[in-house]
Amino acid sequence: APIERPLAPKVPIEVIEDPSERVQLGNERATFVMLIRNLELKEALKSMKQIEDRFNHRYHYPWTFLNDVPFTEEFIRETSKRASGKTEYGLIPEEHWSVPKHIDQEKMQREMKKMQENKVIYGGSLSYRHMCRFNSGFFFRQPLLDQYEWYWRVEPGIGFYCDVDYDPFAFLRTSGKKYGFTITLPEYKSTIPTLWTETLKFMKEHPDYLHSNSSLQYLLTDGDQGKTLDANPEYNGCHFWSNFEIGSLSIWRDPNYVEYFQHLDQAGGFFYERWGDAPVHSIAAALFLGTHEIHHFADMGYMHVPWSRCPQPKEFHMHAKCVCPFDLKDSFDLNGWSCQPRWWKIAGKEYGT
Ligand code: GDP
Ligand code: MN
Repeated sequence: APIERPLAPKVPIEVIEDPSERVQLGNERATFVMLIRNLELKEALKSMKQIEDRFNHRYHYPWTFLNDVPFTEEFIRETSKRASGKTEYGLIPEEHWSVPKHIDQEKMQREMKKMQENKVIYGGSLSYRHMCRFNSGFFFRQPLLDQYEWYWRVEPGIGFYCDVDYDPFAFLRTSGKKYGFTITLPEYKSTIPTLWTETLKFMKEHPDYLHSNSSLQYLLTDGDQGKTLDANPEYNGCHFWSNFEIGSLSIWRDPNYVEYFQHLDQAGGFFYERWGDAPVHSIAAALFLGTHEIHHFADMGYMHVPWSRCPQPKEFHMHAKCVCPFDLKDSFDLNGWSCQPRWWKIAGKEYGT
């Protein structure tokens, strides 16, 4: 059966060599955004090639690349050749990629060393912490993004396995949604010992920030299902995997979110612990947005090491020309580790699951 989505008119593929002359064909104020290091050029091209072939060659949405050091000429040349839309390159200001003054650096070093000894993933890495804090609190404040309303976060080295023959930005906008994900899973507890406690503290000060149709229950352990925030329920660690996100920048520009980020930043857990941007974004999305504003892109085949997923129905694979390099029963949605069933429980299933 055909899938009802707001389709954009099909347009011929045209390759325009000069990036400054490329005309956007999609109608949304939207961009791909990739935070990336120069040495990841090959993996960037792998991601771009798939997104372009599977989707963007008909829309020519622009690409925005961000880096804490200047991009090399080679990086700029090669990535702009692979894009069908314009490409822009931003240098992140130092205030958005450094340890803030209120952080006790000795304590930070001690905690990092401990986490490294305990083999916590990226536990000893300071640059990883800058990355997580940047994605939590600063990516949407980069001047290059001011011109946009929507973003699609792309990481180097991903797999993107099905055609997307509609405009996901337009789809989100016209269906009143703000945030889209492909994979959901629990965070390593050792990276976020006090993230939830700080969140509860913040929410007690601002109970009115909780959306009346929030996805709180998706965040709570089995034992605490049905509880409200006043009961100090336990966080199950579930989050939307943020290496893929298609969303509205307005979620993060919202003063309530910025206030939440500032509370977390003051608490210091981006450095003393190793808070990821995925749980931070996800907790905020689950609490501050309505469940209906969050969308599972069940029709998108996606891989980021070490997990992958694909749509389930066979007829869908024909339609979207999916090439999923794994057995469908190994799709991550069906894995015991996946939080997808929790999401289905509160949001229902979408076509393609
Ligand atoms: P993982 O997905 O959690 O294993 O972390 P990644 O190493 O993939 O990092 C997440 C994203 O941030 C990727 O897009 C990386 O390219 C980017 N990234 C990570 N560390 C840095 C860094 O130090 N500088 C820059 N410019 N980008 C980084
Ligand atoms: Mn990654």
